[in-house]
Amino acid sequence: MKSIDNILAQSVFSREDIIQLLSSDVVGRNKLYEKAASVKRNHVGNKVYYRGLVEFSNICFKNCYYCGIRAGNKNINRYDISEDAILKAVKYAHDSHYASVVFQAGERDDDEFIEKVCRLLRKSKEITKGEIGITISVGEQSEEVYQKWFDCGAHRFLLRIESSNRELFNKIHPNNAKHDFDKRIAALRLLKKTGYQTGTGVMIGLPEQTIENLADDILFFEEFDIDMIGMGPYIEHAETPMFEQKDLLWSLDERFNMALKMIATLRLVLPDINIAAATALQAIDQIGREKALKVGANIIMPNITPTVHRTDYQLYQNKPCIDESASDCNNCLEARIKIAGDSIGYGEWGDSLHFKNKK
Ligand code: SAM
Ligand code: SF4
Repeated sequence: MKSIDNILAQSVFSREDIIQLLSSDVVGRNKLYEKAASVKRNHVGNKVYYRGLVEFSNICFKNCYYCGIRAGNKNINRYDISEDAILKAVKYAHDSHYASVVFQAGERDDDEFIEKVCRLLRKSKEITKGEIGITISVGEQSEEVYQKWFDCGAHRFLLRIESSNRELFNKIHPNNAKHDFDKRIAALRLLKKTGYQTGTGVMIGLPEQTIENLADDILFFEEFDIDMIGMGPYIEHAETPMFEQKDLLWSLDERFNMALKMIATLRLVLPDINIAAATALQAIDQIGREKALKVGANIIMPNITPTVHRTDYQLYQNKPCIDESASDCNNCLEARIKIAGDSIGYGEWGDSLHFKNKK
């Protein structure tokens, strides 16, 4: 077996190397974090880019077993924020020099939804004189719809594979055409084909997930030539079917530490991609996202969803910042990012270098 020092001196990593990095003890993981910080500095620099997150609707026609806003959960208020209120959030982001927003919602494929997203994209560009960069994250759609939204102004898309292991994917989703592993892979291919900067990611610490599965996730991102990653710990929600498996889970601390190791290892394997510090990290540790920045992440998605709706977008329990206004979050975040040693790329899109380097 190689030593951690030997592995960290490499620039190409085998499956075994990745497994060893993810299995590292406290001493090993601190070396990994240090190396990932220097790779980040040398490849993407020490700037963090903001993406103001608007969770514009919790209406979803899917039933993922892990998610608190799944269609089958009858104990939540469903909402669909008005276009005016969403555009107000976009204006807030633009006025605060966040150069980008993320529109995220439950999945729907009806015409009303498709047109609403299109109008939002167009108007967001209009009111910011084309300056706002837009990522969308609204699930699997047809090639036509992906193209339409691209033409309306979106240029990045996030669609997590959730787990790149087909068997595990099937365990965490119902067994039907709406939750099909091959369709998800096909959707990711369509996003790339359409020209989006394509982001994916996984949940870390799912029931029965192994370190080998997580190493394969990293290899999947590499093989898929992905531009952006958003991955974070799985956090159980009492009103979901997967809650029954809570006794199989790693502790929250273990899930958190594994998420940091995944981010650091990924930074070594794919030095020039964008890596988001997922909100779920903050649900476990108040400064979890800043810890992720220190070990390789370079994107943060401050929540700018109007406060009244935040309690209804609870994917998991303990979701942070649900009762703070966007500006409260902004002030505390800026200070914490500086403490983490990064500066904020105000007014810059901060697109994936990996995407640019491919062109
Ligand atoms: N509906 C779209 C989709 O599924 O791609 C976008 C919204 S969905 C809520 C965004 C992400 O939330 C999912 O990709 C999933 O990884 C994450 N998520 C859902 N439930 C979660 C949980 N219990 N713990 C951690 N992350 C969760
Ligand atoms: Fe819907 Fe996305 Fe939640 Fe699945 S993860 S139930 S698609 S919101």
